[in-house]
Amino acid sequence: MTTYAGYVLRVNLSSATISKEPVPTELQRKFIGGRGFGIQYLWDEMTSGTDPLGEHNKLVFLPGALAGTHAQGFGRWIVMTKSPLTGALARSVGGGNFSAFMKFAGYDLIIIEGAADSPCYLLIRDDGADLHSAQDLWGLDTQQTQKALETKHGHRTQTACIGPAGERLVLYATITHGTRTASRCGVGTVMGSKNLKAISIVARAKPLDPYDKEGFGALLREHARILKDHKRRVKMHRFGTTFLAQMTREMGILPFKNFQAGNMDGVENLFTEAYSSMRIGSHGCYNCMTRCGQVHEVKQGPYAGAWSEGPEYETIWAFGPQVGNTEVGATVKADNMCDLLGLDTISAGNTIGFAMELYQRGIITKEDTDGMELTWGDHEVMLDLIKKIAMREGFGRLLGEGTKRAAEIIGKGAQKYAMHSKGLEFPAYEPRAAKIHGLSMATSNIGGSHMYGYARQEISGKGDPRPIDRFADQGNGDVAAYNQIGKAFEETGILCNFADSGMTYELLAKLLATGTGHREFQEVDYLNLVGERIVCLERCFNVREGFSRKDDTLPERMLKEPLPDAGPATGETVRDLDALLDEYYDSLGYSRDGIPTAEKLRELGLEHVSLGAGSM
Ligand code: SF4
Repeated sequence: MTTYAGYVLRVNLSSATISKEPVPTELQRKFIGGRGFGIQYLWDEMTSGTDPLGEHNKLVFLPGALAGTHAQGFGRWIVMTKSPLTGALARSVGGGNFSAFMKFAGYDLIIIEGAADSPCYLLIRDDGADLHSAQDLWGLDTQQTQKALETKHGHRTQTACIGPAGERLVLYATITHGTRTASRCGVGTVMGSKNLKAISIVARAKPLDPYDKEGFGALLREHARILKDHKRRVKMHRFGTTFLAQMTREMGILPFKNFQAGNMDGVENLFTEAYSSMRIGSHGCYNCMTRCGQVHEVKQGPYAGAWSEGPEYETIWAFGPQVGNTEVGATVKADNMCDLLGLDTISAGNTIGFAMELYQRGIITKEDTDGMELTWGDHEVMLDLIKKIAMREGFGRLLGEGTKRAAEIIGKGAQKYAMHSKGLEFPAYEPRAAKIHGLSMATSNIGGSHMYGYARQEISGKGDPRPIDRFADQGNGDVAAYNQIGKAFEETGILCNFADSGMTYELLAKLLATGTGHREFQEVDYLNLVGERIVCLERCFNVREGFSRKDDTLPERMLKEPLPDAGPATGETVRDLDALLDEYYDSLGYSRDGIPTAEKLRELGLEHVSLGAGSM
């Protein structure tokens, strides 16, 4: 007995062949599961220069080592591939029941290879898997698609699918399951390029038996006891992440109008109370008592009747402060539209804000925008643009390329206003006001993500390895590395960031050990080793694609323009990114060019990894 399902499902869409192979025990020991499995397979099976939208790119779906068990907060799943948005590694996280059902169906990984000639979907049942035509599903939104597959295959059907944005290869398309999405890095775009509309699983719910049933059960009871009245869990359950907007605004961390400012009139309209008054229910992933998903319905105003599970903090920002909008109903409507169309809310909102700044500066005009005036706060224009982006219509086609490429196409100095790292649009964290967040987004192997190594120390003032001054120009580069390593081993499980109240690394280690039967997992030091190994191999993946220190950077705005009107962060810049980068590389054993050394690779058991001349 073990919490591993034990198998890989390999689907080649070019040849329409499907096979099943065991997950090697050695791989389990070395990478534990989830994201660790993903990077090992992508490293081994892909070569540099692969076209992200070509048939040689691979798309890997991963439940964690503890998914499908009675453990609380392990209900998320990860998709990994080479990103069409960045050309670097993509890792995107979704929620709902899909991870549990991948495990119930018998798989620790689903690897999608090749590309189908025409739209298809993959149907996985208890007794096998096969491919079906999706001609009748092509063009449907994500809810219509899931409904149609449920009608065909029964109410137990669990589906992850793309919407029109993925079909049309918008570079930041998502994969949706239920109302939860794997949003970042264009994983839905890769799925669309393979003509794969959906993966449906019809399997009996049969939670996996842990290796040490008694020990595992005792740990679960201990965790449930802590969770039940845990303040953060209760807060997450009642408000989701909506409470963060007020908090980050007061700290100067919430960016406004494409990171031009630290405040705007009317932002209070987007604070928690506004969303609480629209809350009509909550939603959770498999086996999660936190149930952070807030279902909102707009009660009044121009968007009365619009509803969504969300928006959560990032989306509130993307369709609020980032575009200068204070109409709360429009944020719900925008969230719903992105979910149905299959668009990443962060990249979509960030890109619209970028376009508004270009318009403000006269770099683009009505001639470029299909006659639209891109005025800050115009929510009708914002909603029009979301639709145009998803459908790749007119000006929306350009914005669907993301900020980096759109800026390159526009020229005229537009690059200066593109807020991204490695091509992945920034979320709602201002690097000048939270410098380790900034460093982590600069160095992240997937680009500008706050969730690659969330700097909790800067938000709550607490957390290992030590409290830090978020304005310090130097001295905390190692903390970004520490956070990224912790996140990497949490995502072997896959432990949800929002459901980890009361979860210590010691408890996580014991759960992994008693669940899987691998005794070495019970040591936190071992988890740290695996986390570092994952981050290092992810870096190697990017080095193989030509990435190095030159790509670990922030937009010029963060380095040179003092942050205005941002409370305690007013006047801040990231003054010494070079020093922070040196500290980060040194703590990870990379060269000062950001490349893992041969010695570090050996230390991490990655001696088989060859980086050619890059590895010193
Ligand atoms: S906290 Fe929220 S996102 Fe995380 S597992 Fe629970 S319901 Fe899902």
